Amino acid sequence: MTKSASKVRCSPVRVDSVPCTSNDAKPPRANGDLPVAKLPEPAAMNFLPVVTALLLFLVQTVAAAPQSGQSGPDAAADEHAATLGALAESLDSDFEAALPRAAELFADPEQTPELRARALIETIAAAHAASRLDIEDQAGPAYQELADTLSAGELRSKLHRAYGNLNLWRGRFDVAESLFRRAAAEHREDDTAVQADLKNSLGVALAQQGKLDEALGTMLAAFRLFEQTEAGPSANLLRNIGGLSIYLEDWDQAVEFTRLALDKTAPDDPQITGLYSNLAAALIEQDQPEEATEVLETAIAIGEAQGRPSAAVVSNLGYVVREQGRLEEALTHFRRAVAIDRAEGDTGSMAITLKNMGETLIQLGRREEADTVLQESMAAYRQADIKPKRLELYPVLVENLEQLGRYPEALAMMREYRELSEEIASADAQARVAELQGAFDLERKERELAESERERLASETRLASIEAAQTRQQHLRTLLTTGVVALALILLLLLRLLQLRTRANRLLAEKNAEIDQQHRALEESHIQLQRHSIEDELTSLGNRRFVRQLLVSALPDALVDSPALLVLIDLDRFKGINDTFGHPVGDRVLARFAETLRQVAGPDDILARWGGEEFLWLIPAARMTEAADRCRNLADRVRATEFMTGGRSLSITCSMGVAPVDLDADDPQAAFDLALKIADAALYEAKDSGRNGWAGFERRVDDPKIFEGSLDIEALVARGALARRRLEH
Ligand code: GH3
Ligand code: MG
Ligand code: MG
Repeated sequence: MTKSASKVRCSPVRVDSVPCTSNDAKPPRANGDLPVAKLPEPAAMNFLPVVTALLLFLVQTVAAAPQSGQSGPDAAADEHAATLGALAESLDSDFEAALPRAAELFADPEQTPELRARALIETIAAAHAASRLDIEDQAGPAYQELADTLSAGELRSKLHRAYGNLNLWRGRFDVAESLFRRAAAEHREDDTAVQADLKNSLGVALAQQGKLDEALGTMLAAFRLFEQTEAGPSANLLRNIGGLSIYLEDWDQAVEFTRLALDKTAPDDPQITGLYSNLAAALIEQDQPEEATEVLETAIAIGEAQGRPSAAVVSNLGYVVREQGRLEEALTHFRRAVAIDRAEGDTGSMAITLKNMGETLIQLGRREEADTVLQESMAAYRQADIKPKRLELYPVLVENLEQLGRYPEALAMMREYRELSEEIASADAQARVAELQGAFDLERKERELAESERERLASETRLASIEAAQTRQQHLRTLLTTGVVALALILLLLLRLLQLRTRANRLLAEKNAEIDQQHRALEESHIQLQRHSIEDELTSLGNRRFVRQLLVSALPDALVDSPALLVLIDLDRFKGINDTFGHPVGDRVLARFAETLRQVAGPDDILARWGGEEFLWLIPAARMTEAADRCRNLADRVRATEFMTGGRSLSITCSMGVAPVDLDADDPQAAFDLALKIADAALYEAKDSGRNGWAGFERRVDDPKIFEGSLDIEALVARGALARRRLEH
């Protein structure tokens, strides 16, 4: 049997609020209808039969008193203050009757948001004082509207805080937590006392949600802030820190803060016995039973002074002294506690004490008495329907019955014990099964979720790879298409280029041919021009220019290599032919004569029309000795030629003058000109001698100086430089 098995006495955690106005004037209230928080029972409680409630106190609720002069002109502020003062008074005196008017005021859109906010704060404070926390329908919408309308600042902070308190009292701890945080954020940092109050309120809201560590940290921060203020930390804050420290099994801190709280708690405060209980519990954990006893005795004395001591405290004292081996003394305390519980109708508490009593009696060997007390405890547990505690009682009871030899009763108790065990076990099992089922369902759902997530990821991956492949193919297609198009374009361009080049080549060839042709035509016309310039048109013989060109540039070798004869020919009485037959007939006669001359001349001879009806005949490799034959030959041929015109025949004659010419000289032109002068002189002689014949002069000296100047043929003949050759017919 362990001490925890039968002596544990856990009390539910209660929220005891101390509604203090700003001046902390009102007395603390009893628990009343405030909700009971369901905080987990700390393991340490199993060893603490003396523990009482964890008391959570709100240090301060709302600062309801309006602060004049904060906004608007003084007159308006005064009016507001008056309105709010009247409202507070009527709410305090008869909350029920005043509430509609208050609600009308804080919901009135005609009023300023400031006045409405203050009215709401006042109403919430009064609602708490009147234990009327069901004003959410009126307060909630007004709060929301005003929180949106008001600008951030002191008043809005107060509004958050008041509405946070309302939510805390109504058990909406999470809402309260967030409202207290908003209030703290908007409150002036330098107002330490209010910041500390807010931290404490936040700590309460956190503790009620089971966030014990955070709650304790917040409250310790509040404590440090309060230490900076003149008033110092409130008793409620100290109590709260002490209580939380017990829950968190920080015994030193629990003792320290509970003692501090006790220093600040008046002896007539109903909370004081709870504080002593907590202190005793912490002291026991610190292994200080004597001190714990002392504390509990003080608590009992205070309780007696107040009228009646707490049964729990008395019972706990019994436990403490029993642990010290003072069994009879313990029995006395237990009996007293049972009497108090019975008087107060607290059956559950009484059952615990009775069990402790029974165990003590067993220790004293008074088993019959013990059995009676344990049966009473069992009855009380049944009445209070505290099954787990009842279950703890059975082994004690059964063992005692066995020791007393009352086996049938022991057996009956065993059966009950088994049934209850099974009931609880089955309930436990059901709960466990439900829990397991829940966990299994959760796990399955999570697995399914994970599976579907995996599938989703896999399908996403597949999709992504398909998309990537499609994109690649698309790119490839685009690339190929582009390539094909580019290739086609290049081919087209090449083709076009080829066509253009072919066409260009053709055009070029055509142009070249055209140019060639033009070139040729030009050349031809040039040649023609050239020929025309040196050729006589009528007879097609060379003209004087032709002969001059020959002399300058291209004398035939035959003329150069050997001496030649120059023959100058003039048609006889040609003027008469023109006159008789007309000029055209004269032309035809000239052409025909040229024909005849060609026929007579040798292949190397040079012929030219020297002008009018005069012709030049150069005979290479011929000397004067041959001149007679040549001239006769021509004259004969001319005479024999028929110059037909208009059916009439006509015969002509010509006269010739001959001179030798040496074109191999240094200056062929000069030699030619000299020969031409001499030939002309000879032609003159031939004419003069009766025409139709030839005459010639042969040079006898080679000295060219003899023939310089004007040529006097007769003198030259006389000097023997020239020898006359006779005219022949
Ligand atoms: P001669 O025997 O003294 O030489 O007498 P001729 O009449 O031949 O000499 P003349 O110098 O008095 O006359 C030459 C004539 O030749 C004059 C001219 O009309 C003619 N004649 C010159 N050239 C041409 C020509 O190209 N065609 C024609 N039909 N007559 C021409
Ligand atoms: Mg003439
Ligand atoms: Mg003539």
